[in-house]
Amino acid sequence: MNIRERTEQLFPYMQALRREFHRNPEVSFKEFRTSRRVQEELEKMGVPFYVIPETTNVVAEIRGSRPGKTILLRADMDALPVQEMTDLPFKSEVDGAMHACGHDGHTAALLGAAKILKEMQDELPGNVRLLFESGEEFRGSFEVVEASGALDGVDHCFGIHILSTLPVGKISVEEGPRMAGTELFTLKVTGKGAHASAPEAGIDALVCSASIIMNLQTIVSRELAPMDTGLVTIGKMTAGQRFNIIPEEAILEGNLRYYDPRLELGYKDMIERIAFNTAAAFRCKCEMTLFGAGTPAIINSADAARRGQAAVTELFGADAVGTVPPWMAGEDFAFYINKLTGCFAFVGGGFPDRENPAHHNNRFDIHEDSLMMSAALHAQYALDWLTENAQ
Ligand SMILES: [Zn+2]
Ligand SMILES: [Zn+2]
Repeated sequence: MNIRERTEQLFPYMQALRREFHRNPEVSFKEFRTSRRVQEELEKMGVPFYVIPETTNVVAEIRGSRPGKTILLRADMDALPVQEMTDLPFKSEVDGAMHACGHDGHTAALLGAAKILKEMQDELPGNVRLLFESGEEFRGSFEVVEASGALDGVDHCFGIHILSTLPVGKISVEEGPRMAGTELFTLKVTGKGAHASAPEAGIDALVCSASIIMNLQTIVSRELAPMDTGLVTIGKMTAGQRFNIIPEEAILEGNLRYYDPRLELGYKDMIERIAFNTAAAFRCKCEMTLFGAGTPAIINSADAARRGQAAVTELFGADAVGTVPPWMAGEDFAFYINKLTGCFAFVGGGFPDRENPAHHNNRFDIHEDSLMMSAALHAQYALDWLTENAQ
């Protein structure tokens, strides 16, 4: 079968699904309708599946007629709590929810790939497991998926993100860091309240916090090497009751992002050291809570990048192999790659002739040719990996 031609034939199918998902966005862990529609489509294709209990995660498997290994393909299904402001004819019909990251496209494209792989079942030297994942925008479902046994017997994985900053027609499967590791933290700074007229009677947690915020910025500028990549953002500070009261307490909420997994532990120590010592200088106390709610960085191995680029070239020619800087957002597919080994690709979804609003923006949109390219790449990568690793 010519995978590329087949995805072109399947374009209307995927486009209709993408638009249907776009019209009916569901936020993280509430993908009930989307999950049901995925199940209906798999049922029609004759692909066996099950739903992980008490979740919306759908796991399906296409067993090749020849024995071999198993590769996992994943699509995330969730939308964001964003009010859509586009004029698209298939604009969100749900108040306060929007597919503003392209996951509608991921789900539609993986259903397209499932159709192709099902038709190729006789040629497959191994098995393809499909995961339609819940809650990616909220750190995803890796732990639940893993605990359910859905990854048992899987040897490798492949995932994509359609990217509006990469023009349609290009696919980036580069070696090295592709998406950032992230971690969320809270700092609680405690001083002593007093009347604003009597600073000597109090300890100002707000002034202290201002210094902590500024000093934390020296982690990136003064502790990391210029070629290291990392950032520290304090996105929220809560302090004070009234203009004439010295604040007793301040809460800072922040996140850090990095590519090098070796930096993960180092960052925590740096934040703690700077925050605690700055607090001490101001006679305040400081406590840090790390949420462990982040995701590791996605790093493509040289081998994964080579195979991915070969698949792109085979499908669309060498011109389609694109480059794009790593994306500083987090992506829970990192957990899957770390467990199984795998590959992650950015599929161009940007319109060449107009401005492309950023992911999570209320005017975000994707060029729908990216559906065909995504579906074809899923199928080709799976076929290539299974063939390379055939027993
Ligand atoms: Zn997103
Ligand atoms: Zn996303």
